Amino acid sequence: MQKLLLSYVQPVMVVAVLLFWAFGPADWIANPWSIVIATLTTTALIQALEWVNERHSSWRLTKREFFTDVFYVVLSYTVIAWATKTFADEPMMAAKRALGIATPWAMHLPFVVQIALVVVLIEFGQYWLHRLMHNQSFFWSTHAPHHHLTQLNAMKGAVGNPLELFLISLSVIALLDLPQAAIFCALNILAVVSTFAHANTRFDPPHWYAFVFTTIQNHSLHHSVAYDDTRCNYGNSLILLDRIFGTYRSGEAELVGQDKRRRLTIPEQFLFPARPLIDRIKMRQPETDTEAAA
Ligand SMILES: [Zn+2]
Ligand SMILES: [Zn+2]
Repeated sequence: MQKLLLSYVQPVMVVAVLLFWAFGPADWIANPWSIVIATLTTTALIQALEWVNERHSSWRLTKREFFTDVFYVVLSYTVIAWATKTFADEPMMAAKRALGIATPWAMHLPFVVQIALVVVLIEFGQYWLHRLMHNQSFFWSTHAPHHHLTQLNAMKGAVGNPLELFLISLSVIALLDLPQAAIFCALNILAVVSTFAHANTRFDPPHWYAFVFTTIQNHSLHHSVAYDDTRCNYGNSLILLDRIFGTYRSGEAELVGQDKRRRLTIPEQFLFPARPLIDRIKMRQPETDTEAAA
């Protein structure tokens, strides 16, 4: 009985988010900051659940892990959000206006369909970008810091190289005419699902939920130590896409990480894609030193 109740924690939270954006106070929902407050609240709630029912004691949050995670959450809501708005969303909206692109039909879709549209469009882009990151060396160098995580926790989805965080924030949603509430609701649902997919919690959801949405089981397997085992379960929130495109693998992992499970510091995470360049400069250093000595 208790197991059954626990299995409904994730679906209930997704439905609660949906109901909130559908029936919440209109002036609050119209506020552009409402999405920031809502996603931070749900993230904090899921983080707190790690102390209610943890998955692995080896993933228990330490102070160092906690402050690193908070650093990346703050980075995502400030610098990364600004970069996405300035370099992607605003130019896209300007192009949309200049070209006279309009999608009035989208405004008339039922609320739930609007949400599904946003979720599928965002996740479809993320799925293929994520798959590219596991199949192309430069893109992998931006994504590898996320795979150097040596434990999983609620805020770990935000941890990665800033270039990767910018790339995965891109979507075509700015090209569509949609009510703000539908977009915010979709973003909030995606945040809940992907936060649970990284969280050290044991609320294993029912099969029908895990058929569509990514869970910690699927995603921890994606964080496996053997590189080849990471090449599955790319869906950030929609594991359904892996089932459709043939990259789904069942199972889960407790041991996570890359490069013999070496934990990276924040400077190492930032500089990771530049490593080949730094190595080349370092290799040239002795020659220059010898020349200087001569
Ligand atoms: Zn990955
Ligand atoms: Zn991850």
